[in-house]
Amino acid sequence: MSKMSIVRLGEMVLRWCGECNLPVLDERECGICNSQTLEVKYTPPGDVKPAFPTELKRIRESVDRAFGSGLGVFLIPEDKIVVLNNSPSLDKMDEVIIDGLVIGSIVYDLRRGWRYQARLETARRLCKEASKGWIVVDDGAIEPILKGGSALNPGVIECADGIEVGDEVIVLTRRREALAVGSAKSSSEDMRMRKRGIAVRCRDKGLDGSEKILKPTRMSEKGLDIKLREVKDDKWIKMWSSAVEANVRSLEKRVSESSRFIGKVVCEHVSKGLDVAVSYSGGKDSLVTLNLLLEMKINPKVLFVDTGLEFRETVENVHRVVKESGLELVVESAEGEFEKSYPYFGPPGRDYRWCCKVCKLGPTTKMISKHFNKGVLSFIGQRRYESESRAMKGRVWRNPWVSGQIGASAIQSWNALHVWLYIFQHGLDFNLWYERGLERIGCWLCPASSIGEYEIVREYEKEKWEDWEKRLREYGDKKGFKENWIKYGLWRWKKVPKGVIEVSGEYRIRKEEVDERMRFYAQEGYSPCVLGISVEGAFSKSLNIERVENVLNVIGEVKIDKSTGSISVGDRREVEVYPEGAMVIRGKDENEIKGKLELVKNLIIRAHECVGCGVCAGRCNNKAIKIDSKFMIDKEKCVRCGKCIIGPCPVIDIGEEEFSL
Ligand code: SF4
Ligand code: SF4
Repeated sequence: MSKMSIVRLGEMVLRWCGECNLPVLDERECGICNSQTLEVKYTPPGDVKPAFPTELKRIRESVDRAFGSGLGVFLIPEDKIVVLNNSPSLDKMDEVIIDGLVIGSIVYDLRRGWRYQARLETARRLCKEASKGWIVVDDGAIEPILKGGSALNPGVIECADGIEVGDEVIVLTRRREALAVGSAKSSSEDMRMRKRGIAVRCRDKGLDGSEKILKPTRMSEKGLDIKLREVKDDKWIKMWSSAVEANVRSLEKRVSESSRFIGKVVCEHVSKGLDVAVSYSGGKDSLVTLNLLLEMKINPKVLFVDTGLEFRETVENVHRVVKESGLELVVESAEGEFEKSYPYFGPPGRDYRWCCKVCKLGPTTKMISKHFNKGVLSFIGQRRYESESRAMKGRVWRNPWVSGQIGASAIQSWNALHVWLYIFQHGLDFNLWYERGLERIGCWLCPASSIGEYEIVREYEKEKWEDWEKRLREYGDKKGFKENWIKYGLWRWKKVPKGVIEVSGEYRIRKEEVDERMRFYAQEGYSPCVLGISVEGAFSKSLNIERVENVLNVIGEVKIDKSTGSISVGDRREVEVYPEGAMVIRGKDENEIKGKLELVKNLIIRAHECVGCGVCAGRCNNKAIKIDSKFMIDKEKCVRCGKCIIGPCPVIDIGEEEFSL
């Protein structure tokens, strides 16, 4: 490998060519004009991406609302390329990068919707133009503001009409130079009345004059075949075609490193008899992964798990892309699974992801066991920034929850902009929802999404979203949750983060939804018994003893006492369970008893509340689990390895340490 071709995995630097006014990844020279590029200062981790025309419209409208009509297109002209940097925030926030500078952010504000949050550079560019959202302060206020203070009402000598508390404001000197930007703490009326108090809490300040405003972006003579579906924009296509040209070297390096990796991994696993596949989700990362394999003349099978909560456009994209490639599509559908489990689990949450297990992991398990008897090497569009050694180590893994699936990540070191430039370069057919502003394409109600993303979904899928809100409302009404629970998306957590609680003013935390579910009450203290000590307890419901007998078989031979209808495990009846719900656990000491109690209790709850997702079945190498509305263990085939017990289950997860009986 030549020195030039070394790709430093994990190191992503966004640079900018001032001559062409284009983003350049990694390279110190622009791929078009060879001029030196400069590093862009933005908030890490820096998974930057193009601003699509629909997103640009949203940003310009937000600028218009904040600073006056027509200023959106003045600040973000149509002949300049714009890059967005997804940044950490309470909800959705993207830094807006233009001319190689972060000039502000487009933010989804939980109270006010989409808004533009200015940086000082915005104030510098709009100081002579803004008709809204500006104040002029007295010379005496300049020094305190530069030292970190706020603009106070008595120091305001002039201000725009209509400023309200919370509005974005640019702070100007008498000479109309940009001094600061911040958020209004008083209205225009209060500022004019010179009431005591803060006018604007300043965020970004300085009196250094404007950074360099660059000339328009170089436009490629002939645009690439960039497949915009939502808004066709020739200028945009020509600018991004130039961006591809400027980044050809960086792309070549990524592609060559990924191709070497693919070749090596495929060779290793095909020789072991494994099939090769790409897990295609309809998202950009798996699209690139699929194309990398096709470019290498490898014809993988394409795996698609339809969670039943996909966007219509995602399913269409999958079928189009696969048809175009001529590859074999293997689909497993979880259509209806979410509906089936929802009455039992309620809304899914970030800390309560039963949906992933039921709608994704379960069908994946079924798909692999149905179609890949000998196992499958499945390339997954997964990326992450890490050190070179760690990135290399973690690029091939055995799926711990799906027996027979080896996962491999070919584009682990790419960032989102590499991915997009590759898609544009190859004219790949990407999912329309990216153009609308979604960062990731997954289930339309995914609890990991931001409210900003839900707003985008609502904009295009009004009926669907209103139906979902209706269901949330019905659920919330039963539990006594107020409207804020829906408005601020509090349903996305069981335990809502503090910052979200503060904004929403909703202090009620979604309590454990176990009302209709099975509970277990253990007796306090221990009783002496022949084995040492014992503990007694009872379930809130009577038990289906056949199911208990079936599941407890994985921890030992189960004996049935016909006289009482009870069952027991262990030579000395260490575990005893009665049909009416009573349970006795015996052991030599407290530690042993606690462990057994937890495990047996959880197994019994699983046995009764199983929703038949099949996730545990995928962990059994002996094909000893059948799913027939609930899981059922074939005692003849079971070797009591415990693999089905340990690991995810939407009803209850059981950890390795618990399986110690
Ligand atoms: S016990 Fe198995 S089949 Fe039943 S819900 Fe849990 S993981 Fe799914
Ligand atoms: S994984 Fe299969 S063999 Fe192992 S305990 Fe579970 S059912 Fe039995």
